[in-house]
Amino acid sequence: NIAVKPDLLGNEARAQLARKSQLLIGGRFVDAADASTFETFDPATGRKIADVAKAGAADVDAAVKSAQLALVGPWSKLAPAERERLIRKLADLIEARMDMIAQVESLDSGKPVEYIKFVDVGLSVGAMRYAAGWPTKIEGDTLPVGAPNMLAYTRREPVGVVGAIVPWNFPLCQACFKLAPALAAGCTVIIKPAEQTPLSALILGELALEAGIPEGVVNVVTGYGDVGQALVDHPGVSKISFTGSEEVGKLVAARGAATLKHVSLELGGKNPNIIFADSDVDAAAATAAMAIFFYTGQICSAGSRVMVERPVYDRVCAVIQAEAGKLKIGHGLSSDTTLGPLISAEQFARVSGFVERSRDSGVEATTGGAKPGGELEAGHFFLPTVLTGATDDVEVVRQEIFGPVVVVQPFDEVDELVDRANASNFGLAAGVWTQDVRKAHAVAAALKAGTVWINTYNQFDAAAPWGGFKSSGYGRDNGREGVEKYLQTKTVWTNYA
Ligand code: NAD
Repeated sequence: NIAVKPDLLGNEARAQLARKSQLLIGGRFVDAADASTFETFDPATGRKIADVAKAGAADVDAAVKSAQLALVGPWSKLAPAERERLIRKLADLIEARMDMIAQVESLDSGKPVEYIKFVDVGLSVGAMRYAAGWPTKIEGDTLPVGAPNMLAYTRREPVGVVGAIVPWNFPLCQACFKLAPALAAGCTVIIKPAEQTPLSALILGELALEAGIPEGVVNVVTGYGDVGQALVDHPGVSKISFTGSEEVGKLVAARGAATLKHVSLELGGKNPNIIFADSDVDAAAATAAMAIFFYTGQICSAGSRVMVERPVYDRVCAVIQAEAGKLKIGHGLSSDTTLGPLISAEQFARVSGFVERSRDSGVEATTGGAKPGGELEAGHFFLPTVLTGATDDVEVVRQEIFGPVVVVQPFDEVDELVDRANASNFGLAAGVWTQDVRKAHAVAAALKAGTVWINTYNQFDAAAPWGGFKSSGYGRDNGREGVEKYLQTKTVWTNYA
């Protein structure tokens, strides 16, 4: 089950990677003001892929100024239908370059290239096409005010310049989940990709220009956390749309308060996937395996805590273990790879640390729990891991591991189950597997989570709001709410007496 073939890049991807990775500011690709760069690596081999411009505060300031100019300039002058046309054009270009984008993204992130085409590129194109429908449908109201001879109405206006801060696990797709509705609302955007995966956001910026979106509407500043912080601190940025860790999310909210930023936060999750004995148990268990092992568990919605009604507990464990054994571990660019590496040495240390410490708490790794050897030694690979015997108080049950590590626990009663599932600080997503419709909807209503999947898992759509309860954040990407958070309301009064 081992395959390392990093030589599988097509010509278009090779040509893209051969180019200098610069910042996109005001419609031009430029070096950082101080000419700094940083390196991005292939997590499957540890090898360097490219030097990338490392933005600083001066570059962020330049990007904000260009976004401010574009906001009141060409972008605000376009008819809504024109905005629709340009966003659609961007969707078409992303779709047309799917192979190249997926290969670059796979190399940078370690994710399997075939999955990226279907999931990341598919969702990105979907987000653009969904958002493209909105500019012509953003409407104000006439208001039933009491004063005589007064006309009062509302206008829905763009909130302003948006800072879109993106994590490494869905680099293109999270950028598009923010960019698409912000463009639909008439905002201008500065995208700050994660330092581990800067490459696809630069391609996105280039395609936005190619689509004819005016210069300065889409800017991309690559670099570390200080670049995100400079966006949060900048008085010229009106809104921060952040996806990332809880820890940094709290910093963003606190620092953003100094300039009264609009802030939306999509943070982590510890998502219970609940399997009742009256479900299609084999299908539920096989899907539960995909729910955690897909993208090496580095997904905020990963079903990292499987809770199983006791009579079918052993069967579910056996199916998840069998599914883990079928995964083909390897380089993301190999078309048959189904499990790529973790993103970095740091993430490897985090994931393996969780598993090591869990052993001290009496938890058993019945499958995996270690690094694969041989050819995969140089990459940040971790075997798919099934943990059993965990009590609710151990950290692997409470904290987000963000790796291919699932904890499987039995339960006996529905009430007990709901209390235990809700005991988490997080509240992003949950799965419920049962053929009893009443039970399915009662549990869905009782779970404190932003999304509940019944007899399915990891379904996403540009029309379906996505975001968390509790420490998983606030605000929603996608759907109507995803567009509304980039709008503000102006009330206009007219005395026509
Ligand atoms: P992270 O918080 O470390 O980084 C996210 C982004 O914030 C990066 O671009 C980073 O450079 C930037 N950043 C770092 N410090 C900053 C600061 N002080 N101010 C402003 N920006 C700063 O997260 P990560 O490790 O890249 O991503 C993993 C996390 O993201 C996980 O917790 C995961 O659950 C979460 N996530 C959530 C969702 C969701 O939709 N809820 C989706 C994907 C990932």
